[in-house]
Amino acid sequence: MSATTGTLYIVSAPSGAGKTSLVKALVDAQPQVRVSVSHTTRAMRPGEVDGVNYHFVSRDEFLARLERNEFLEHAEVFGNLYGTSQRWLEQTLAEGYDLILEIDWQGAQQVRRLMPQAQSIFILPPTQEALRQRLNNRGQDSDEIIEKRMREAVSEMSHYVEYDYLVINDDFAHALIDLQSIFRANQLKQQAQQQRHARLLSELLA
Ligand code: 5GP
Repeated sequence: MSATTGTLYIVSAPSGAGKTSLVKALVDAQPQVRVSVSHTTRAMRPGEVDGVNYHFVSRDEFLARLERNEFLEHAEVFGNLYGTSQRWLEQTLAEGYDLILEIDWQGAQQVRRLMPQAQSIFILPPTQEALRQRLNNRGQDSDEIIEKRMREAVSEMSHYVEYDYLVINDDFAHALIDLQSIFRANQLKQQAQQQRHARLLSELLA
């Protein structure tokens, strides 16, 4: 087990901003970063895998877990319940991994209250039009549904002021570099470096 405790990151975005793809690319390239797999009551989408994208559970099971205080935070988003498992989060941070929570603004507020050291990042689309396009590309939804999603996205985006970092996902590669820079800067913080390089520092000062 590492002596260094990992950093907790909160990543939020309106749907269609490219959050999941960016986080996946970041994690694939950084073995010390992990993503929390939330529990949700929403139905599985095509291509999703239970235990990988989410732990898909019934509403009853979710409520039973909630009753047992298993969630660090939870929220209802678009009519479905979502929650972050507290035990896995604590274990993973204690093992020295940096950990990402992909959660909405309500969950972010709860986590900030409980763990004020958490670093929070909000990912934004480059324009409203690009967001509408991305929401449109997802399926053959009616204009009405797209407009509803746009309103939800605007409401989610209004919380950007609560976050430490803003990343604009205009170009995927640039947004990924921005995200990686945030992680790298945090890894280089004096306290983290002090733990990581304890021997070097004591040698240098001998
Ligand atoms: P989706 O169902 O499209 O995967 O996610 C819908 C929204 O729920 C997204 O904003 C996502 O960030 C949020 N979400 C996913 N997991 C959690 C969670 O564990 N807690 C909270 N508060 N929100 C979550």
